[in-house]
Amino acid sequence: MILVTGGAGYIGSHAVLELRRSGQQVVIFDDLKEGHRAAAQDAPLVQGDLCDRDLLIDTIRRHKVDAVMHFAARCYVGESVTQPAKYVRDNARGMHELLEAMRACEVKRIVFSSTCAVYGVPAKVPITEEFIRQPISPYGITKRFCEEQLEMYCRAYGFAVVAPRYFNAAGADPDGQLGEWHEPETHLIPSILRTVLSGGTRTLEVFGTDYPTPDGTCVRDYVHVADLASAHRLALTAMKPGVFEPVNLGTGRGQSVLEVIAAARTVTGAPIPYQVLPRREGDPPALVAGGDKAKRFLGWTPRHVDIVETVRHAWNWLKAHPQGYQS
Ligand code: UDP
Repeated sequence: MILVTGGAGYIGSHAVLELRRSGQQVVIFDDLKEGHRAAAQDAPLVQGDLCDRDLLIDTIRRHKVDAVMHFAARCYVGESVTQPAKYVRDNARGMHELLEAMRACEVKRIVFSSTCAVYGVPAKVPITEEFIRQPISPYGITKRFCEEQLEMYCRAYGFAVVAPRYFNAAGADPDGQLGEWHEPETHLIPSILRTVLSGGTRTLEVFGTDYPTPDGTCVRDYVHVADLASAHRLALTAMKPGVFEPVNLGTGRGQSVLEVIAAARTVTGAPIPYQVLPRREGDPPALVAGGDKAKRFLGWTPRHVDIVETVRHAWNWLKAHPQGYQS
């Protein structure tokens, strides 16, 4: 039985779908502040706060949990700058309470959602796992501290940990069961698509066209959420007691903001005008995953590396759910 914290959120819900399709049993733990009950589908769901250690212990014991996937976290870089307390509590302290609950129940296997934000502004791209962790936002700093807690628990208590560091999660379940819905939406692909759906009432903003990149806009590595989900499933079998394994999850390809807009034009047939704004604080020019550790260590190769296909999956879900999970 796998405990999936944040299993009603965007990436967590796709991981739950993947695990259940492969015949595994899961129990979701989610506070439903940003997750959606409908995204949990019919999986068992415990609604609770990650800092409620007793409820975590009760859930682990009651459901006979033997491994954890930990997705639950606050994840807005900009918000973390203005409201760091929320990030320290929910991300750093939440990790501590979860680890102590696991220790109390002698459950020591965990896959932890980390992020390429732990690298900060890398000296170069592509980025490999041994690059120094120098996060530049409170969000990235709390994620690095989660990694550090996990490293300590590996060494001292024999925990087995895989920490996938995601690049830009994107797309939706190719079969259309799940998608991405945040309120407010700040991510590029859903922002573009919601602009199209709004029929002109929303304006797309492009943050900076003066970066040292080929077309002047930021370059990111958009990795399909279904591929992230399969990597998590593989991580469960690759982990070893006493070992902390960070692993980058990306496609190894970079796309500029303008290239993503072009892909969305191809998918939607809409013109997609945009307004250029100054750079957004904290955005590094380029983030692209490098190395072959995910393949070597997990046996993982992303299946969806075409940005047009990824945007199409996101669009298919959004068209069918124009109000998100309320639809
Ligand atoms: N971006 C943009 N307009 C938007 C949202 C994002 O130009 O409405 C840019 C942003 O500056 C970044 C890239 O798109 O360079 C990806 O941003 P997103 O928020 O999706 O992911 P992040 O890289 O911040 O995790």
